[in-house]
Amino acid sequence: MTESTIFDKIINKEIPADVVYEDEHTLAFKDINPQAPFHVLVIPKQRIATINDVNEQNSHLIGHLYVVAAKLAKEHGFAEEGYRVVMNCNEHGGQTVYHVHLHLLAGKPMGWPPY
Ligand code: C5P
Repeated sequence: MTESTIFDKIINKEIPADVVYEDEHTLAFKDINPQAPFHVLVIPKQRIATINDVNEQNSHLIGHLYVVAAKLAKEHGFAEEGYRVVMNCNEHGGQTVYHVHLHLLAGKPMGWPPY
């Protein structure tokens, strides 16, 4: 088991977060440092440190993050204009919290490439 992160505290409601969605396996909340008008993190409640730790046993949890992200994008009116989902991995990927999370960014045109 990897070390606990601040996201475990958010999952356990030990620290507050602006939660926009919750189910048995998943939590989604507003990013505290938004990079777009709508910036939500979609996380599995089970701690998986990085994409490198995804395997056949836990891949359904990762797939479900995309289901939730698409649902939220539709509900908030971004499906047609479009949006971005991104998961950073380790230092070069820009990961700072070692509990996988899907960034859902919407509400403005996104640039590419991401540097
Ligand atoms: O992909 P990365 O690991 O860099 O993303 C972590 C994200 O978690 C950041 O966008 C940061 O703003 C967010 N965060 C948050 N609430 C916290 C701690 C970090 O929304 N309490």
